[in-house]
Amino acid sequence: MSSRVSATINLAAISHNLNIIRSLAPESSVLAMVKADAYGHGANEVARVIESQVGGFGVATLDEAASLRSVGIVAPIVLLEGFNFAHELAVAKEHKLDLVIHNLVQLRELIEEGVEGISRVWVKLDTGMHRLGFSPSEWLEARPLISQIEQYIDIVVMTHLACADEIEHVQNRNQLSVFEQIVDGEPFAQSIANSAAILSRPDLHRNWVRPGIMLYGVSPFGSEQLIDDLCPVMTLKASVIALKSVSAGDWIGYGATYQCQSDRLIATVSLGYGDGYPRSAATGTPCYINGVMTELVGRVSMDMLTIDVTDVPGVKLGDQVELWGEHVPVEQVAACCDTIGYVLLTGLTNRVTFHYV
Ligand code: PLP
Repeated sequence: MSSRVSATINLAAISHNLNIIRSLAPESSVLAMVKADAYGHGANEVARVIESQVGGFGVATLDEAASLRSVGIVAPIVLLEGFNFAHELAVAKEHKLDLVIHNLVQLRELIEEGVEGISRVWVKLDTGMHRLGFSPSEWLEARPLISQIEQYIDIVVMTHLACADEIEHVQNRNQLSVFEQIVDGEPFAQSIANSAAILSRPDLHRNWVRPGIMLYGVSPFGSEQLIDDLCPVMTLKASVIALKSVSAGDWIGYGATYQCQSDRLIATVSLGYGDGYPRSAATGTPCYINGVMTELVGRVSMDMLTIDVTDVPGVKLGDQVELWGEHVPVEQVAACCDTIGYVLLTGLTNRVTFHYV
């Protein structure tokens, strides 16, 4: 019997998407972003599949890094937020992690504690996003400190673009100009590109690219610009658990927000916001059943949602409904919920059963 809610992770699709990344940026090493449990796909499983084909993995937290090491991942792992709390530097060294250094406190501590056990440091520059990194004026203070360690470790200078998914945005030009001014003449490797920049700005590929969302087969540009070559990795499915013939004028679900305009067949499906399917999904959000696209009607409940199956051939209890994945781009579902695919993929709860194929 199939599970109540299942997320099938197509591991071959990850390799396919990685091949696309490598063909787009053949000169660059790939830092595969597996933070947030590989964008909800299962970091340990994803990392195992692509370890031999990437230059390393990017994670946000020490726990994420430790989990990868515990399943035998030996590739470089970059701690993207660096070390910010007591003992984190020591633990990072134990796990042989590469560190992002984004402020003077971290840089001074690293020098004081010594770089033994660390092979690469990623120095983050704040070129205008104002989240993490050395601003141009802080760089003046940081640079002489970096001189004290640069002969012992590899250094990559990195920055992150706030608007990479809007190719023409003026912020990109401004950030790049700040970046070039800082790194001009510096001997360090460079890294700028996330998925959007990998797809749209070959000039920004530099030494390391840092793909996240496109590795999982999802467009960084959202539903407006789907990328046909990418293969969605996660397919989310749930079962039909009730069928209701309703009449014109009847209302569906909590809040009575949807009124049927004609006689309809409504299927109740076994997932809701308690599983991570967004409550904000509007009537009209697409789904797929028995070879046919159809849509949600009424509000999403905690454990269930309702879809219109009037035009679906042979629908019966137990039929599987795809909420996103192979046939339903998660980008389109996200657009109907006023959010982005990243949020949906990372938001599934532990009620969902994962299958790796
Ligand atoms: N680089 C950094 C520093 C990030 O924080 C992220 C994700 O948030 C990425 C790269 C990957 O971005 P994307 O998933 O859009 O490719």
